Amino acid sequence: MIQLASHVVMRINLSVLSICLSLGVLATEVEEKLPNLIIILTDDQGYHDVGFNGSKEIPTPNMDRIAHEGVRFTNGYVTNPVCGPSRAGLITGRYQGRFGFRINPTINPFDENAGLPVEEDNIAEVLAPLGYHSGIIGKWHLGTHPKFRPNVQGFDEFFGFVSGGHDYFPENLTVPDIESVDRAGDWYRTKLLRNEERVEIDEYLTDELSSEAVDFVVRNRKNPFFLFLSYNAPHTPMQATEKYLKRFTHIKDERRRIYAAMVSSIDDGVGRLLDTLDKCKLNEKTLVFFLSDNGGAVTKNSASNYPLRGYKGNIYEGGIRVPFAFRWTGAIPSGIDYDFPVSSLDILGTMAAVTDAKIHPDRPLDGVNLIPYLNGKKSNAPHPVLFWERVGRQTAAVRKGDSKWIRIENQTELYDLNDDVGEQYNLLTEHKLKSENLENLLENWSSEMKPPIFDPLGTWNPSTTPK
Ligand code: CA
Repeated sequence: MIQLASHVVMRINLSVLSICLSLGVLATEVEEKLPNLIIILTDDQGYHDVGFNGSKEIPTPNMDRIAHEGVRFTNGYVTNPVCGPSRAGLITGRYQGRFGFRINPTINPFDENAGLPVEEDNIAEVLAPLGYHSGIIGKWHLGTHPKFRPNVQGFDEFFGFVSGGHDYFPENLTVPDIESVDRAGDWYRTKLLRNEERVEIDEYLTDELSSEAVDFVVRNRKNPFFLFLSYNAPHTPMQATEKYLKRFTHIKDERRRIYAAMVSSIDDGVGRLLDTLDKCKLNEKTLVFFLSDNGGAVTKNSASNYPLRGYKGNIYEGGIRVPFAFRWTGAIPSGIDYDFPVSSLDILGTMAAVTDAKIHPDRPLDGVNLIPYLNGKKSNAPHPVLFWERVGRQTAAVRKGDSKWIRIENQTELYDLNDDVGEQYNLLTEHKLKSENLENLLENWSSEMKPPIFDPLGTWNPSTTPK
């Protein structure tokens, strides 16, 4: 049964790829003005752990293709140093605090508050009126209650899981679904969902998600599509197969070796996806964004954020500045670096602009269209100011130009990122006025945020929840 499902998918992939190859001309003949839109999101991948940011230890030739055939963002940020809020900002194009999504939500599937508020417009919902077919493959983490799931929030297709992480080995996925979890941690072992139906898998999870992504593209190659390929690797648990581990026998530290294998498995998947776009002659009509949802979780998965300070969970650069690249063949330059700060918020800003999608006036985007900046039509910085916070840890930060002001509880710090990307030299006493100005900007921004609307991750005790 399991094998049959997988082989069927493989056969479909092969046959449609053959179609793309043999009838490539036909694919280009389909006049479709609306471009396809792809986001490839990794989870807890370090700033330095891609070839395009200098990694020699972990080759990522396919992630590098996106940067080399498009733009590498050297100052690419997400909006929060942990998964849930970062994803809420990315998918709405708005600072997630504007709608109270300020922390990682409890994954209690019986909690009707813990999720992306349905009145917010996410990318799939913004694109739906234009006729886009939208799919999310992989991690959702924007609410586990049925009212928050992808299929009721604009996505035509969902293949993945709703919690914040997941086990990678098919044989471990023995929990029927998240509602039947009766022990903390078992939400990592639920069966996967295809829309609302539980399904079996037989591949290593990252490979399975990659196969689904290839299949999604070939099935939708003639209609405009939005694909959110949301890998959970290289988030814990640290699990990889021999196929990938044997590429890294030179790495002595076991956890780092597994991490490298997990990154490599994603890279293979990215390669398969890019090859599919190529064979279907979709490169010039497909935007591809690649980024991680927050900085590397150094102490948990052995990621490297070099040369940045800090890691997942804090608002030093290592928590919020991520590997970030964007390719749109023929429409933006290839092989360049863009050094002004950009944000995951700009993904919807760009997608909405290039599709002429309508944004509700009551919920304006914080993100902008990056295309004119990349094409040199605009030479100023897309974001004069960017903000971050970590509610619960009482930390927040603001960046204006190269100056970054940070508050960690009662302590404050000021850094010049141009001279000191590693945030080692606190300039606070030398620049008191600048610090005050930045603090005021941050206070004004914070006053626009809504209080947290749900309980945090870790508050759900499944063993005491009535089923
Ligand atoms: Ca994450």
